[in-house]
Amino acid sequence: MASDESEDKALRATALKTAESILIARQRAERELAAAHEALERKSQELQQQREWFAVTLASIGDAVITTDTQGRVSFLNPVAEAMTGWSSAQANGEPLERVFQIVNEETRQPAENPVKRVLEQGKIVGLANHTALVSRSGRELAIEDSAAPIRDAKGAICGAVMVFHDVTGRRQADKALLEETRILELLNATGTAIAAQLDLQTLVQTMTDSATKLSGAAFGAFFYNVSGPDGKSYLLYTLSGAPREAFERFGMPRNTPIFDPTFRGEASIRSGDITRDPRYGTMAPHHGMPKGHLPVRSYLAVPIVARSGEVIGGLFLGHPEPNVFTERSERLILGMSAQAAIAMDNARLYEAAQNEIRRREQAEAALQETDRRKDEFLATLAHELRNPLAPIRQAALISKTPAATEAQKRWSHDVIERQVHHMALLLDDLLDISRVTRGTLELRTEMTELAAVIDAAVETARPSIDSKRHALSIEIPDEPLILAADPLRLAQVISNLLTNAAKYTDPQGRIRLRVEQESGAIIISVTDNGIGIPAEALERVFAMFSQVKSAQDRSDGGLGIGLALAKGLVDLHGGAIEARSSGIGRGSEFIVRLPARLLKQSKPAQTIGTPDAAPLRRRRLVIADDNEDAAESLAALLRMDGHEVTVVSNGRQALTTITAMQPEIALLDIGMPDLSGYEVARQLRDGPRGQNLTLIAITGWGQDRDKTRALEAGFNHHFTKPIEPDALLELLRADPPQN
Ligand code: ADP
Repeated sequence: MASDESEDKALRATALKTAESILIARQRAERELAAAHEALERKSQELQQQREWFAVTLASIGDAVITTDTQGRVSFLNPVAEAMTGWSSAQANGEPLERVFQIVNEETRQPAENPVKRVLEQGKIVGLANHTALVSRSGRELAIEDSAAPIRDAKGAICGAVMVFHDVTGRRQADKALLEETRILELLNATGTAIAAQLDLQTLVQTMTDSATKLSGAAFGAFFYNVSGPDGKSYLLYTLSGAPREAFERFGMPRNTPIFDPTFRGEASIRSGDITRDPRYGTMAPHHGMPKGHLPVRSYLAVPIVARSGEVIGGLFLGHPEPNVFTERSERLILGMSAQAAIAMDNARLYEAAQNEIRRREQAEAALQETDRRKDEFLATLAHELRNPLAPIRQAALISKTPAATEAQKRWSHDVIERQVHHMALLLDDLLDISRVTRGTLELRTEMTELAAVIDAAVETARPSIDSKRHALSIEIPDEPLILAADPLRLAQVISNLLTNAAKYTDPQGRIRLRVEQESGAIIISVTDNGIGIPAEALERVFAMFSQVKSAQDRSDGGLGIGLALAKGLVDLHGGAIEARSSGIGRGSEFIVRLPARLLKQSKPAQTIGTPDAAPLRRRRLVIADDNEDAAESLAALLRMDGHEVTVVSNGRQALTTITAMQPEIALLDIGMPDLSGYEVARQLRDGPRGQNLTLIAITGWGQDRDKTRALEAGFNHHFTKPIEPDALLELLRADPPQN
């Protein structure tokens, strides 16, 4: 039993020990557990604190943050991200990122690539993507810049992604505004330079229209020149920008409608957000805004361009099919540019005027040189033409002086001399006439004249030229007498000139037709030939002084190239016009004279021209005074042959004494005598008792009107130019009394 007891005791002691050690172990374990628990608690608290701190941090930063798991499902949105996307963090939790974070490319409007996708695929940080717009849950768009990065666990494995982004709308707008500002400045600068440097009006106006269209953001621009049509209502389209010409031409020029009118009157600029609804213009009939068929204009801006002088040079019109395109600022810009353009246009117009003036002067100078050249040519021809008759005259004189000369030879010699002198006299007459016409001193002796008589006289003058070349002349003239106010001698001179030319410039046996027609208010005299014709480019020129057509020069037959100039001058003095026509070289010519028909029809003309009925001869007593003995003696011989009694003296003093002693009816005095001039002799005679009933005739080499006036003032009754036309003098002597 005792052993049992001891065994039992030992057992109990072991058990106790075991229990004790278990207890100790348990206590230790409990302590360890408590410590572990405490550590865990501490850790968890730390973690919580960290999370809170993290959340607060994320909430505090200005950028938006979104995190996702590895599948790209949203796990967190900070408040900025919530505000920008329109999703709360709770709502978004577990949603695919593409739903919560919708982005498009600002320019292409296509969905943009989500950066998180690339982060999860490639495990790399993805940098900023530009020009991206975030579309919020409500559809609002915000320009953003974003970036994303992978989230890695302690072991470096990817356990999600974080995306950071922020709103750059403000900055984007500022950038845009800056860009626009730079563009405008560059444009203004370029326009200013172009405008200042440009002197060509067309280019300038085009530059201005283009720049204004760009500056204002218009779809099309037009610049209209302020030119009014015959009705005063249309304007010439000048330059366009942004629209084809047809678009404008379809509806014609802007008219004086209430829209365009203020601009063309130079009033203030007009800007309308929507011209079709503008109460100022939209309601006005008939167009209600823009005329029908006009380009689709709603936004409208019109600015007048006013020159320094205040003159409205034109109007600049800008349009856009969208409403409200033009701002107050664009209006100010266009106004500024217009002011600059107006000055430039003024300058260009001045420059153009100066250029025109230079051109005009150059032309005038060229014309002057041409006249000069023609004058030189003329002088050469003149010298030649004046020398030409001298040889036959000298020879004829020699022949007639030779004692052996027969009567027939003498007559022939006299004929030659007479013909040549006549020719020279005609040349000199023409020369004097043309000089009077050019100086405007030629006066017409206008009287009621019968045209038929003028034609007869002209034909008679031209007859020798026509007959010598055996031309056939036909004359067509109305039966009834045509009486017109004209200088009959001058008119006959014009027509005979045309006839002589027709004869000269037509090969022998040609046809010349002279026709007189009456048209309402005008008499038309035409001379047509089938001669060498006139090249088209010379038709105008033939009326210029000293002008001869080169190809016709060998036929001019001693002409000086002044006949037609004189004809034109005389026709002009009659208030008429002369014109040359020809179908070209070898195709004949036609000269047409139009005279205003200040004509009367009456049965008998006031005066006819031609040879008057010969008056009965009266024997006169005459004194001739001339220091040129030959001239005096030959004239005396001529007068004596007509039965007059003539005394010749050779100076002024002799003239005075002889006239006083002889008491002639008529005295013919040369003006240029060495001792006493003809004027002086006349004055002294008129002052004395003998000079009262005397007819005084001046004979001078000077036949200008001024000379005639001087002679009349000195007391002469008549004036004859050397060489005297004997017929005219003899006719005067036949008249009774001879002093008119
Ligand atoms: P000209 O003394 O040379 O005849 P005009 O002044 O009379 O001078 O004429 C000027 C030029 O006009 C002439 O030289 C000639 O070339 C041309 N002309 C004039 N009449 C005719 C005509 N009937 N036919 C052809 N050419 C003509």
